[in-house]
Amino acid sequence: MLSGMKKSSTSARSTSRCRPRAAATSRKKPADELDSAGVSSPHPQSAMDTIPVSTGIRNGGNDREGDIRVRENGAAIVPSHQDLHRELRTTMPPMIRSALVCVFLLAAAASTVAQPDSGPKPLRVRALDMLHEALRSQGSYAILSRLVKHAPKRLSGSPGGAAAVEWAHQEMTTLGLENIRLEEVTVPRWVRGEICDIRAAAGGAEHVLAACALGGSVGTPKGGLEARVIEVKSFGQLRALREKAKGAIIFFNRPFDVTLRNTFMGYSRAVNQRSSGAVEAAKVGGIAAIVRSVTSAPDDAPHTGAMRYDDGIEKVPTAAISVVAANRLAALLARHGGEVSVRFRQDCATLPPVKSANVVGDIVGREKPEEIVLIGAHLDGWDLAQGAQDDGAGVSHCLEAARLILKSGRKPRRTVRVVLYANEENGLGGGRAYAAQHASELENHVLAIETDAGAGPPRSFGVSGGQKLVDALEHVSGLLRRYDLGQVVQGGGGADISTLRPAGVPLMGLRPADHRYFDVHHSAKDTIDRVHPRELALGAAALGMVALAVADAEKGLPRSPAR
Ligand SMILES: [Zn+2]
Repeated sequence: MLSGMKKSSTSARSTSRCRPRAAATSRKKPADELDSAGVSSPHPQSAMDTIPVSTGIRNGGNDREGDIRVRENGAAIVPSHQDLHRELRTTMPPMIRSALVCVFLLAAAASTVAQPDSGPKPLRVRALDMLHEALRSQGSYAILSRLVKHAPKRLSGSPGGAAAVEWAHQEMTTLGLENIRLEEVTVPRWVRGEICDIRAAAGGAEHVLAACALGGSVGTPKGGLEARVIEVKSFGQLRALREKAKGAIIFFNRPFDVTLRNTFMGYSRAVNQRSSGAVEAAKVGGIAAIVRSVTSAPDDAPHTGAMRYDDGIEKVPTAAISVVAANRLAALLARHGGEVSVRFRQDCATLPPVKSANVVGDIVGREKPEEIVLIGAHLDGWDLAQGAQDDGAGVSHCLEAARLILKSGRKPRRTVRVVLYANEENGLGGGRAYAAQHASELENHVLAIETDAGAGPPRSFGVSGGQKLVDALEHVSGLLRRYDLGQVVQGGGGADISTLRPAGVPLMGLRPADHRYFDVHHSAKDTIDRVHPRELALGAAALGMVALAVADAEKGLPRSPAR
C-alpha cells in the first residue's frame, strides 16, 4: 500500500502544503538513520521527525516499516480519511481506491495503537527527542557557563567551593528535581598562597621555571630552600641513590607517555610522581620534590593535583613545573654535569577542615522509587582555572541529562538520582560520605554512572562488573550505537562512585574522546573556551539515554558480590 501511495505522490497535483500526504510519502532517509550514520541532521523547526515506525501490517510474512511522522509527544501523525480520498481520487479506479483506503485505515489504527497519544513513547523515540533537544538547546553549555561564572575556582573548603554548592542546589531546584538536599561532608582546607617560585642556577645563569604548588603540600620556610638538584625517573632509581640524595631537591622527570592511545593510561603511569614524590624524596633524605607536570601538552603551563603525606615521614614541600621547564632543567643538568642548584619558595598551607556538602536531587521513579540509578560528577575543581573540563563538564552532563529525561516524557520506573560530589580532587570525602550515609540503600542502587573525563564527544561507557553486566546492557549499547554515541564496554567507573563497589553496586563511567583532556587537566588552561558546545551536548544526551534506558527497563542488572 505504501508503495502505491508513493506512486501517487509523483502526481502533478501533489502539493507540498499537504503535510499528511507529504509525511506518508516521504522518501527522505529517516532522521535517526542519518544520526546513526554520523551525519548531523538539523533540528526540525516543527519539533517533528520522520522515524521508522512499525505499521503492524504483515506483508509476505514480514513486518513492514513505514515512515510515519511523529509528534513531539510520540504520537503518530497519519493522513486523514478525507485527505486520502482526495489523493487517490485523482489516480485510482473506484474499486481499487476503496480497498486501499480500508487497508490504509487499518494500518493507521495499528500505528496509533503502537504510538498512543497518552501512553509511553518507545525508548528510541525518547532517546532521539533527547538527542535533538540537547543539540538544539545546548542546555549543557548554558549550565557550564553558569557554573564557571558563579564558582570558577571551587576547591573544596574554599569560598568558591561553598558558592558551587549553593549554585548546584539552585540549579536542581530550577530543574524540578525532587528531594533536593545537601548531605554534609567534612573536607580539607588547603590554601595555595601567593608564591610558588622555582629558579635553577647553573654556569652563573639563573632560569625561572614555570611552577605551581601541588595540592596538600606544605610551604617552604619563608626564605625558601636552596640545594643541588638530582633528576630521577623512578622511585627505584631514587632509592638506589642512597646517601647521595640526602639534602638534595629531588626532580621527578618521568614523562607522560604520549605514545599510548589511551591518555588515561599515560596519566596513570606518571601520576605517582605527583602523588607520592614528596614522601619518596623524604624517605631518602631529600628536602623537597619538584615534579614534571603530568600532562600530554608540551607547553609551559604547570599542572597541579593532589599529593599525600604518610604518617611518620617528614613532610617536605612539593610543586609541579611545566613540561617546558622540566625539559629545560634536564638540559641544564646534562650540560653542567649535574651541577645545578635550585631555589624553591612557596607559601601554601593546610588549615583546619571545614564542612561542605554533596548536592543530591532525584527524579523519583514511578513504579520502583526505592531502586536508584545514580548519575554523578564532582562539583569541586582545582583553583588554577575554571575546571570547565574537570569536572564542570561532568556536572553539566548530569544536570542536563536529568533535564532531558524530564522533558522527554513520563518518569522512568526507577529513581534517577543526581549526585554532585564534594572533594573528589583532594580527598574523596564526598564519595566516602555518600557511601556511608546511604549504606542501608546501596543494595537498591541498580547502577552508578560517573562522568569525570572531560567534555569530549562520547566514545563509550565502561562498566566494572564483567561481561555478564555488559551483556545485560546490550539494549543500552544498541541505543548508543544507533545514534553513534559509542557502546557499553568492559572496564570503567569513577573515583567518587568507587566507594560503592564494596556493596556490589554495578559501576559505569562515561568515556569521552580523551585526546585533549590531559592538555588542560588541573591547569590554568581548563577554561570553558576549550569546551565545544556540541560535543558537551552529545555527552549529556548519551548519559541521559543510558540512565533512562536502565531506570525504565523492566529488569534490573546483575550485581557484583558485595565485599
Ligand atoms: Zn575530575
